[in-house]
Amino acid sequence: KRTGRASATVFEPAMRSEFQGRLELEAELRRALEHGELAVEYQPIVSLKDGQALGLEALVRWNHPQRGLLLPQDFLELAEELELTGQIDRQVLAEAQRRMHVWQTNAGAPRRLWMNINVSAGSLKHVQQVTEQLLHQAVPTPWQVLIEVTERVLIRGAESDPQTLQTLREAGVELVVDDFGVGYSSLSSLHRFPVRMLKIDQSFVAALDENTELIRAIRAMGQALGLVVVAEGVETEDQRRRLGEVGIEVAQGRLFSPPLPADRVEQYLRQHGGSD
Ligand code: C2E
Ligand code: MG
Ligand code: MG
Ligand code: MG
Repeated sequence: KRTGRASATVFEPAMRSEFQGRLELEAELRRALEHGELAVEYQPIVSLKDGQALGLEALVRWNHPQRGLLLPQDFLELAEELELTGQIDRQVLAEAQRRMHVWQTNAGAPRRLWMNINVSAGSLKHVQQVTEQLLHQAVPTPWQVLIEVTERVLIRGAESDPQTLQTLREAGVELVVDDFGVGYSSLSSLHRFPVRMLKIDQSFVAALDENTELIRAIRAMGQALGLVVVAEGVETEDQRRRLGEVGIEVAQGRLFSPPLPADRVEQYLRQHGGSD
């Protein structure tokens, strides 16, 4: 008992400050959602061969008034615990839709590009809500919105949520399996859902030596199923060349472009063949 009390005194201040820090961040995150502190950056998805833009992935950022620019890793876990990711994902989609409309108008008649939106693993219900938001969009664009989910979402959904599946099909929304290879998708779930694209996790690209045959196999399987296979996290010319050698045609990564603030996208698209 005495030791218990002694260690309690030792740990209490640290625990209290951690707890307070969390409470503060929680309050700040709720405020951020109300006050529009979230921003979206867009990372190009390109043709490996010539670097031409095929689409963009919307990536959430938090312009924190005191802490500066925060990345998803700094706040998404907390958001999941607080069940705020549905709200975040819908804000990101609304913002991306607003931008797509502007880029479409300003860039003349852009060809059909993908706009990839991430939806949290928290619940399949989010996918459905995002889909409904897409169905009710005020200004349709020629862009095709693809929804990125992890393998876990597919598996769970295949087991438990035929309604969402139906909604997706009716809305013509197609899915991207993000971070493919690190989870446990089954081929049957790839088949049951309207999956359009597989993204090979960047950890495989980072350790390309060990994963060359795996990437070749994923690419072959993707091709057999009629899916677009994208390599993520491409940082070097060497990676680009070797991915090309195993048949990868679409890529994303800093070698081509980092995520761009919205006001730099238009120029990027003009330089990289974003319009016909
Ligand atoms: P992700 O969807 O797999 O996104 C790819 C991540 O790789 C992004 O990190 C991107 O900035 C980073 N990246 C891009 N190029 C390179 C590269 O060449 N090398 C390396 N090492 N990394 C690169 P980011 O922006 O920090 O996003 C992290 C994760 O947070 C995303 O992973 C996604 O799962 C999640 N996320 C981002 N935005 C949203 C959102 O709006 N909603 C939800 N639910 N999740 C989001
Ligand atoms: Mg993603
Ligand atoms: Mg990914
Ligand atoms: Mg990833």
